[in-house]
Amino acid sequence: MLALAEIAQRNPKEITLMENEPLSRHTRFGLGGAARWMVDVHDAALLPEVMGALDGTETITLGGGSNLIVADGGYDGVVVRYTGRKIDRNDGVSLAEAGAVWQDVVDFHTELGLSGMERMTGIPGWLGGALYGNAGAYGQTIMDFVESVRVFDGVGFREVANADCGFAYRTSGFKARKNWVLLSAKMRLAAGDALEIRQTSAEILATRNEKFPPTMKCAGSIFKNLHVANLGEKALNRVPPGVMRMGKVPSAWFLEQVGSKGMKRGGIEVASYHANLIYNTGGGTAVEVCALIDDLKGRVLAEFDLRLEEEVQYVGFKDRISH
Ligand SMILES: Cc1cc2nc3c(=O)[nH]c(=O)nc-3n(C[C@H](O)[C@H](O)[C@H](O)COP(=O)(O)OP(=O)(O)OC[C@H]3O[C@@H](n4cnc5c(N)ncnc54)[C@H](O)[C@@H]3O)c2cc1C
Repeated sequence: MLALAEIAQRNPKEITLMENEPLSRHTRFGLGGAARWMVDVHDAALLPEVMGALDGTETITLGGGSNLIVADGGYDGVVVRYTGRKIDRNDGVSLAEAGAVWQDVVDFHTELGLSGMERMTGIPGWLGGALYGNAGAYGQTIMDFVESVRVFDGVGFREVANADCGFAYRTSGFKARKNWVLLSAKMRLAAGDALEIRQTSAEILATRNEKFPPTMKCAGSIFKNLHVANLGEKALNRVPPGVMRMGKVPSAWFLEQVGSKGMKRGGIEVASYHANLIYNTGGGTAVEVCALIDDLKGRVLAEFDLRLEEEVQYVGFKDRISH
């Protein structure tokens, strides 16, 4: 890692290099071990040099850490974060950098009375993570207003048009391009009723703060919801019609039927009021989170012949798959 240390030394304002950095400090779940190396790149122009210096070393790009479970043994590689956070608007198109806090992106557009993302208020994390997972809430999704995404593809910079981003429910084609670093997005939003936008945003934020208290150590929903079209007979026969919304069934419904609410493993619990919300009460470990996840998946499989898929992403595990 000498080459990386040398680049960091030459560019102290643009690069922050950390050794054995505890990832619990950088993830909302607040658990898991350390990254062997962590490098914050504040200026995208240095990415080719930085990534070139990592040649052959295992690398992962992270954002705000709100959708991650980090292994207790940590990550034996280099965690890269692109931290550019500018948000701007020119000629009717917004341009925001991937290190921008998502709520700042929402607030920027709310202030301008632009509609399209006000229902996505309160989603934690940064823009880069939201693009990667095609974040969404209350019927709005990032794929609906992104025009293009600028990336560093390991060799050079390129602009990926929305149609080529592979966006679908809680996923994107970027998940198959693990060596890409997402840098910024162009977004187009329509003018709306400023007062209404502000009210909607404030109401949703209040609801969310009750459901996910800001200090709660968690990753939001652990499992993805299920497309009705993908359900087998055994599951479909049991789901009451009122539970289906916009072609999906919340995984929380299935989890509740198998007794998920309030289940515990050491310092990790399922919320008593939300069957798909697992949180760290304090000293929980990744092993405990995974044991609870496996138990819940096993129960839903046995009861409904249904395989739940995690929405949350794993870091530092050899034997667990991020979808
Ligand atoms: C309380 C709570 C509520 C939540 N509610 C919602 C919700 O309503 N809707 C929703 O969609 N999600 C929700 N989430 C999940 C999470 O907030 C989103 O997935 C968020 O967009 C993740 O962003 P992040 O910056 O924290 O990404 P991280 O957790 O840091 O990373 C997530 C994934 O994105 C990749 N990634 C991140 N940045 C980059 C980049 N620049 N380049 C390449 N890859 C990158 C990482 O490799 C990782 O696989 C919630 C989470 C919490 C804790």
